[in-house]
Amino acid sequence: MTPSREDEYAQQEAQLDDLYREVILDHYRNPRYRGSLPSPTTRHEGYNPLCGDDVTVELLVKGGIVEEVAFQGSGCSISQSSASMMTEAIRGKTVPEVESLFGEFTAMMRGSDDIDFDRIGDLEALEGVRKFPVRVKCATLAWHTLQEALRRLDQGADQAASDERAIR
Ligand code: ZN
Repeated sequence: MTPSREDEYAQQEAQLDDLYREVILDHYRNPRYRGSLPSPTTRHEGYNPLCGDDVTVELLVKGGIVEEVAFQGSGCSISQSSASMMTEAIRGKTVPEVESLFGEFTAMMRGSDDIDFDRIGDLEALEGVRKFPVRVKCATLAWHTLQEALRRLDQGADQAASDERAIR
């Protein structure tokens, strides 16, 4: 009998360092900034077909600073805890700082060890996930969704965001 995906995931998570697993589970059970913003300047919904995770990221960017951030979604513990850690890491940062953190985080998930761990903070907890290539997509989903939301902001997404709400 082949193990179910839940069993497989549980086995993978059991192989993570205890401290890291605690951080991941804490964000999964007590997600930070989960919800939605009353008037985001940009939003994007991302989907990871490999696992079925989805994450919607909303940002309120003013004067080049991410003043507010919120996420919603469903999926595996890695995808949702990564989204929660991301919101905490980017809130209050400038857009270039957020982009640089994106670069650092995705480099770590691709296997780079040339990482400034002081800057990356709790996100380091996801480092162990790179042992499981399929789960790397779970960990990076929120970040790719964030990047798309920022790209839309560049393109004058204020309008796009309100159009999207109007359609809903
Ligand atoms: Zn997943």
